[in-house]
Amino acid sequence: MMEQNRYDVLIIGSGPAGLGAAIYAVRAGLKTAVIDRSPISGGQVLITYEVDNYLGLPGLSGSELSEKFRMHADNLGVAFITADVQGVEHASGLKVVHTAEGDFSAKAVILATGASHSKLGVLGEEKLLGAGVSYCATCDGAFFRNRTVAVVGGGDVAVEDAVFLAGICKKVYLIHRRDKLRAADSLQKKLLSLDNVEVLWNSVVKEITGEDVVEGVSVYNNVSDVQSSLAVNGVFIAVGIEPNTELFRGMVEMDEKGYILADETCVTSKEGIFAVGDIRKKPMRQIITAVADGANAVYSVQNYFVEQA
Ligand code: NDP
Repeated sequence: MMEQNRYDVLIIGSGPAGLGAAIYAVRAGLKTAVIDRSPISGGQVLITYEVDNYLGLPGLSGSELSEKFRMHADNLGVAFITADVQGVEHASGLKVVHTAEGDFSAKAVILATGASHSKLGVLGEEKLLGAGVSYCATCDGAFFRNRTVAVVGGGDVAVEDAVFLAGICKKVYLIHRRDKLRAADSLQKKLLSLDNVEVLWNSVVKEITGEDVVEGVSVYNNVSDVQSSLAVNGVFIAVGIEPNTELFRGMVEMDEKGYILADETCVTSKEGIFAVGDIRKKPMRQIITAVADGANAVYSVQNYFVEQA
């Protein structure tokens, strides 16, 4: 392997967790590179409309905050490699990261591949994807100006999306399967103060209807046992996330949902492999906790290097 492809630390993923780890690693004097399939850093933050709970930087859009994170890493001299990772191998003390652009090696690898949106799994969802079905309100919301849309879910993302869409659309239905939202209180208050938002409680989407584009949703109320049709032009699905850990299955221990088992030291079951951010099993997945993981992981990496010396 060519010398320039050898690092002390390779970080896979350039969301807040990966970039947080990167700045701590370069500042610790470690030769560090971040590998991501996208040249634009930020992960899920990139598609967040507004982030109001990151300390010291309130009210920035997700893309503005991501840009700041990336600039910070660039200014400190973090190397970035744009490549699709195909696997990680443990070879002769070194870990080798295989990518479509070639192999890279490091003494330690930090996994920071984040999470992706979950599917609802109903009829019409796949067929009408891009034809009214979306998983990203900030990306696609503008197509629904003055129209009627439904948002499905009751977490932070669903409520943030509904608030964002209420500023663009004529009417927004928030369809939630229970009678309580999971989202932060401040978000709930904002949502419930909006005139053009209607929450359908205890309701599940059974089908997304329409021939070529979304025309409506079929909704079942699990308290009244009544099924009804709602005419909407768009459906924004925000029913949670799934960890992007498929590539690492068999290498590190995971729970039944695929989250990597590692405590706040970010040490995984495989020596020299660390896990940070949304891919780690943990109670609170926020930008600030992802960044904190990055710092903790590098502390663990340094301890690991001392043990190995
Ligand atoms: P969450 O897991 O928090 O919420 C998912 C929502 O979807 C829940 O209300 C859940 O219902 C509902 N749901 C799940 N499956 C289904 C289904 N099959 N049918 C109908 N409804 C379903 O996910 P989010 O994507 O909202 O957030 C992911 C993580 O990101 C969270 O930890 C969140 O706090 C975090 N986040 C952080 C932000 C920040 O730092 N600023 C911003 C946005 C998100 P139920 O409540 O009944 O389980």
